[in-house]
Amino acid sequence: MQCPLLYRFRVIDKLPEKPSEAATRGTLVHAVLERLFDAPAADRTAPRARALVPGQWDRLLEARPELAELFDGDAGGERLSRWLGEAERLVERWFSLEDPTRLEPAERELSVETELDSGLRLRGVIDRIDVAPSGEVRIVDYKTGKAPRPEYADGPLFQMTFYALVIRRLKGVLPRRLQLVYLGSGDVLTYDPSMADLERVERKLLALWEAIALATRTGDWRPRPTKLCGWCDHRAVCPEFGGTPPVYPLSVRPAEAGEDVQGRMEPVRAEAGRSVALEGP
Ligand code: SF4
Repeated sequence: MQCPLLYRFRVIDKLPEKPSEAATRGTLVHAVLERLFDAPAADRTAPRARALVPGQWDRLLEARPELAELFDGDAGGERLSRWLGEAERLVERWFSLEDPTRLEPAERELSVETELDSGLRLRGVIDRIDVAPSGEVRIVDYKTGKAPRPEYADGPLFQMTFYALVIRRLKGVLPRRLQLVYLGSGDVLTYDPSMADLERVERKLLALWEAIALATRTGDWRPRPTKLCGWCDHRAVCPEFGGTPPVYPLSVRPAEAGEDVQGRMEPVRAEAGRSVALEGP
């Protein structure tokens, strides 16, 4: 939804991307917030959460040794300790937004997968699911960035409604509330979805998949430059920046009359963060 050409580079060409400090800090903060719930409720304090940061960073490095390159040349460790300090501040801010001593999540870091009637498979990872005694379900997602201005809220809301659609199909309940917790700015955004919202997202996903299938067949993946290009690892091979994409690795068939790749790829503002996945029938 952000840029068709970027999708091609990532999914079809599988071009490697360098780890980023911001994304890795997000992964680290998510791990800390998840692990904190291992402790008894009364012990889920800010100092305890902060103290989890270095150990979770070690675990992350063990699982993904390539992350060490983020701090290449940081012989004195100043950059690393500043970065860890930023992660600690984000973790601490969470305590001004939610009270983990009063929460018992039903699920944490839940991998979900379901199939729509069309055969399109949806996958994602949900940060937290809370279930009230009444059975009402709340889906919670942590963001380490700042809350978007209202006109940019479509992307995160789309992601949350995607999760609501998956949960509705898996558990048969319409989640009562979707909650985005922005640790970067200290904001909590909530939205109570309706069945009509879920149906709208399902239609959008099907249209998106058709657009992806058509672009895959025709090789017509166009760049869509936005401010997010500044974060893109593939500027050197992007025509918008004077580059030439690698030879398309799939065989192509021209679009037939009436098939319009770009018309189908309606932009939806997205934000860097946890991705959701589509897989065709
Ligand atoms: S630089 Fe921008 S336009 Fe080019 S592929 Fe990356 S996101 Fe798309």
